[in-house]
Amino acid sequence: MPTREQIVARERRKLIEERGRIAGALERLREALKVEVDVDAEEGDPDLIEREKNVALVSQLERKKEGVEAAIRSIEKGKYGICERCGKEIPTERLEVRPDATLCVQCQAEVEKLIKRGQAPKAEQEIQ
Ligand SMILES: [Zn+2]
Repeated sequence: MPTREQIVARERRKLIEERGRIAGALERLREALKVEVDVDAEEGDPDLIEREKNVALVSQLERKKEGVEAAIRSIEKGKYGICERCGKEIPTERLEVRPDATLCVQCQAEVEKLIKRGQAPKAEQEIQ
């Protein structure tokens, strides 16, 4: 079983690698989107379809990149492995199985119960 420090270091390394991969993919997609599409292109034109696909992919990757960056920030603030709900340390055994866990087992179980009852605490990011 790795130590807490080893898990944190490994997770941070993984996230930084992922951020690099996403940034590379975004750059390639944006390059592809710079190419002008024929103004006479009609609906259903393969170039247009490709372009729409790329636009959707860019926003998908941007969201993913934000998530990865938030995770890196939380590691840097020393918040990784701390339960977001009760503030207790998430045991290394759990982090080893679920390195992206943000809740301890008890809180996870309680939140799942609330979700089942339709009383899930709504996240702040929800649009007002
Ligand atoms: Zn908890």
